[in-house]
Amino acid sequence: MSDKLIVYKCSNGHLCYPKHSICSKCGVSIGNEEVDLSNLKGTVVTWTKSTVPPPGVRKPNIIAIVEYYVEGETVALLGGIEGESVSIGAIVNAIPVSNLRDTEYCQREKGSQTWSGHRFKIVE
Ligand SMILES: [Zn+2]
Repeated sequence: MSDKLIVYKCSNGHLCYPKHSICSKCGVSIGNEEVDLSNLKGTVVTWTKSTVPPPGVRKPNIIAIVEYYVEGETVALLGGIEGESVSIGAIVNAIPVSNLRDTEYCQREKGSQTWSGHRFKIVE
């Protein structure tokens, strides 16, 4: 798992995440230009809290849409929030997480579905 949080840039500078073959803003092909958000701060634009998450998912599970501003462009990402509270406008950093769910509760064989990624940690 990479600790980096990578988004992708089209030749006109628009950002997307996850990577798509065509830019949703201008229609050009998305190349391989990457932008690393790992050391940048994002802003929570909305969030929700699941108090009855699926088996293996932390409880409560707070999910937010976080927007990053990079060189005049924005990109929004969906992800979990560390901790048990959040507010609109909170400033966050992305932190790498090796297991986003408890693999003992996999729907297939136990431990068969590891799932790494990022969560957001409130910093301001
Ligand atoms: Zn574009």
